[in-house]
Amino acid sequence: MTRIEKLSKFLPEDSAALVLTPVNRFYLTGFPSSAGVLLVFGGRPDKAVFFTDGRYIEAAKLAVNDCDVQLSDSSLARIKQLLADEGSVNVWLETGITVAELSRFVQGIDRFSVSAPDGLTEFLTQTRAVKEPAELVKIKEAQAVAQAAFHHIADYIRPGVLECEIALELEMFMRKNGAQASAFDIIALAGGNTSKPHGVPGETAVHPGDLVLLDYGAVCGGYRSDMTRTVAMTHCGECEREVYELVKSAGEAAILAVRAGICASEIDKTAREVISAGGYGKEFSHSTGHGVGLDIHEAHTLSAASTAVLAAGNVQTVEPGIYIEGAFGVRIEDMVVVTEEGCENLTSITRDLVVL
Ligand code: ZN
Ligand code: ZN
Repeated sequence: MTRIEKLSKFLPEDSAALVLTPVNRFYLTGFPSSAGVLLVFGGRPDKAVFFTDGRYIEAAKLAVNDCDVQLSDSSLARIKQLLADEGSVNVWLETGITVAELSRFVQGIDRFSVSAPDGLTEFLTQTRAVKEPAELVKIKEAQAVAQAAFHHIADYIRPGVLECEIALELEMFMRKNGAQASAFDIIALAGGNTSKPHGVPGETAVHPGDLVLLDYGAVCGGYRSDMTRTVAMTHCGECEREVYELVKSAGEAAILAVRAGICASEIDKTAREVISAGGYGKEFSHSTGHGVGLDIHEAHTLSAASTAVLAAGNVQTVEPGIYIEGAFGVRIEDMVVVTEEGCENLTSITRDLVVL
C-alpha cells in the first residue's frame, strides 16, 4: 500500500486532508518542495492531487507517481471544486501549520468544515515513526557518512583548534562524502563548554586535558542521522573518567532495555536509575532520547512523561548525559532500530573513551 493509500484509508469517507507541511508532503509524495498542497480524499486514494507552483511543476510531474500533479494558482478555486465534486464535508489540516495558513484555508474554502484535528497529525506521526526498509537504508547511509566523519575529525582535533573549526570541518567532510546537508546545527564543544548540553561552537580552543563533545549527523535522501561522542584531548582527569564510565553504563543499560512493546518511559527510567545510583541524577538534565527520520526530533520521545510504546521499525536515539555546571559534561549518543527481540545499533563507533 502506498503512503497516500494508507492516509486515504484512515480518513472518513466524507472527509479530505490538505497536507501542507513540507515534511509530510515529502513523506507522502516523495517529492521535496517548499510550497504545495496535497489533497487526499477519504476512501478514494486514486483521487489524490498534489498541487504545486511553476517552480516545481516540471520536476514534480516526473517524480510523483502515486497521485495526480497539477499546477496551483493563488486562488483555492480548484481545491474547492474538487472537494465539492467528491462530496467532502470535512477538511482536515495538520496541527503543525501556521496560524496564517489555517486562516487562509478556513476563509478560502468556507463552504466546508475546516479543522486541524489531532487525529490527522497523530496518524502521520505514528506512520512516519515506523520506518520502511527503504527509509532505513537512507538512515544507515546518513549514519555511515557521520561515522566516517568521526574518524576524520579524530585525526583533525589537536590542541589549539577552535570549536567552530571542528564544526566546519565535520560539515565539510560530510558534504564532500555524500551528505546532502548536516542533519542539524553541529554541536562541537571543548573544555568547560561541554557542560552546556546544546552549546553553540565558538572561538574556544581545545586544550590538553579537555573533553570535547561532538553531536552531529548527516542527511541522505532526506533522512537524518544523529550521534554524540565525547572524547578527551591528550589525557583525561579522574573525575571526567568516572563520569564518562557512568554515562556509558547508563546508555548501555538503556539500549539493552529497548525492544518492541516496551514503554518509552521505561527506557528513560533505566538510564536515569544508573545515573542516579552513581550520584549524578540532577546533572542528567534532558530526556534519554528521541525518534529520528525526516525530522531530527520526531516520535518517540524517551522521557518520563512519554506514554508511547515502542514498535519494530522505530529509529530512536539513546543519549544519556551528565553536565556539571562550571566544570564539564559528557554525552554519548547512539541511534538504534527497534526490533521484536531488542534493537539493532546503527552506531558502531566505540563507546569507550577515546583519548586523542
Ligand atoms: Zn545528537
Ligand atoms: Zn539526539
